[in-house]
Amino acid sequence: MSFASETRRRRTFAIISHPDAGKTTLTEKLLLFSGAIQIAGSVKARKASRHATSDWMEIEKQRGISVASSVMQMSYREHVINLLDTPGHKDFSEDTYRVLTAVDSALMVIDAANGVEAQTRRLIEVCRQRDTPIITFVNKMDREVREPLDILDEVERELGMPCVPMTWPVGQGKSFGGIVNLRTQAMTVFEAGSERRPQDFEAIPLSEQAALKARFGAEFDSAMESMELATGASPAWDKEAFLAGKQTPVFFGSGVNNFGVMEVLDALVDLAPPPQPRISTTLVNRQPVVREIQPDDKDFAGVVFKVQANMDANHRDRIAFVRMASGKYTPGMKLKVQRTAKELRPTSVVTFMSQRREAVEEAYAGDIVGFTTHGGVQLGDTITDGASLQFTGLPFFAPELFMTVILKNPLRTKQLQQGLAQLGEEGAIQVFRPEVGGPMLLGAVGQLQFEVVQHRLKTEYDADVRLEGCQYTGARWITADTPAELRAFTDAYPARMARDAADTLAYLCTSPYDVRLAQERFPKIHFHPLREHA
Ligand code: GDP
Repeated sequence: MSFASETRRRRTFAIISHPDAGKTTLTEKLLLFSGAIQIAGSVKARKASRHATSDWMEIEKQRGISVASSVMQMSYREHVINLLDTPGHKDFSEDTYRVLTAVDSALMVIDAANGVEAQTRRLIEVCRQRDTPIITFVNKMDREVREPLDILDEVERELGMPCVPMTWPVGQGKSFGGIVNLRTQAMTVFEAGSERRPQDFEAIPLSEQAALKARFGAEFDSAMESMELATGASPAWDKEAFLAGKQTPVFFGSGVNNFGVMEVLDALVDLAPPPQPRISTTLVNRQPVVREIQPDDKDFAGVVFKVQANMDANHRDRIAFVRMASGKYTPGMKLKVQRTAKELRPTSVVTFMSQRREAVEEAYAGDIVGFTTHGGVQLGDTITDGASLQFTGLPFFAPELFMTVILKNPLRTKQLQQGLAQLGEEGAIQVFRPEVGGPMLLGAVGQLQFEVVQHRLKTEYDADVRLEGCQYTGARWITADTPAELRAFTDAYPARMARDAADTLAYLCTSPYDVRLAQERFPKIHFHPLREHA
């Protein structure tokens, strides 16, 4: 197969939802029906609990498991589909944002009874910022749920883009009759149960109106009516608009009953985009040089969007997940970390090619390659086989929660520093070193991040720490147009200045007014709530 066809046949997407909407179930069914897994239940068993810290700690002990299930690859209809899972717990939303930078589209799962829920809303915002195309799956139609028109309304409002129904439900809950496929103009009849294969559901052409009316009665009539209203009110399907993040195709179904799932799998092949070009910005003689890297460029290029500590605490191994932007990966190839200009020397490489453990010979743009290393790789790092590139867009958000780290045994300072440096590089937490000295500060977006870091410092680095509250409630990364302006500012607020893991200067604040006042005093200083790449 030619190079260009290899990249064209790839689809890389993230699956997003609010907890309990049915993400795990749908993931499992997609894997099952593409043939990637043979037995239902294997994804479920891996599902990380996110309801209680204690559960999470238990899962944390089996971290290898979540490594294995966060990237899944399946092959379906001659296409290679890479599915990236996103953490369920809101306290790890930063990880989710980074995963969203590594995909070309997103599949949004919505509980038909609950509509768009809090966590989905946040994820949507990130997709919208990046114009990521979104496919919508309205799940749990076998339950007593909301009217489909009502759900579409809400999705449109929340997404700020029109919905284009691809399937339409007939009834719901106890009287759920099935879905009409608007493209094939046939109704697929619902039957409950998790054993049935998708192709075994009965399909009746819409042209057999009399038979359908007789069988589904008033439910059918009202479905036809609402379907007409919905299609009349929504724009025609426009693939370009979808790819530009300007409309979303909507599917209805019931994941747990294998129903409406095949339509989603087909949509990933037929509608979702292949790997898209990625922007690299490097500085040459202090001038930004912007390049668009095409997926079928021959040279290897990729970006680290996730770093995860490996299961073996004694070896301090870490897996750097690299989303390939271009080129072809083959085992043994020489790769360089652009930030340090050092060679990447992985001890092992995983390519998520299949669950069947076939030896992997190659990977292409869109694929995720996992490099196990002893360090030297950070979130946001660009990896290439030579070219000097730096991909942009990996977000770090200004933390809203801060804690001071107090080491219980001062003799463990070295271990603490090593631990904080590595956990900072991993993005598990943000570490700030105050310019005036004193204890390190941890910054987080979610409370649970602190507990995880405290636990990991102890178990992985043998550094027992106490975390204490402090007065800070926010931070802004600081830049200025001239060094003199920057100096004037840092001289005015010496006690508020700190550096993060990437050595970027930040201003710590104690209230929202802080930033406003500082900005009024120093109008030429730029305060950034978001930092991109390392
Ligand atoms: P996640 O938290 O989004 O990964 O959700 P899960 O896939 O774990 O599903 C949450 C719960 O909803 C589980 O008890 C599932 O069995 C159930 N569930 C998932 N899909 C459906 C569906 O289509 N119908 C019904 N009735 N329940 C479902």
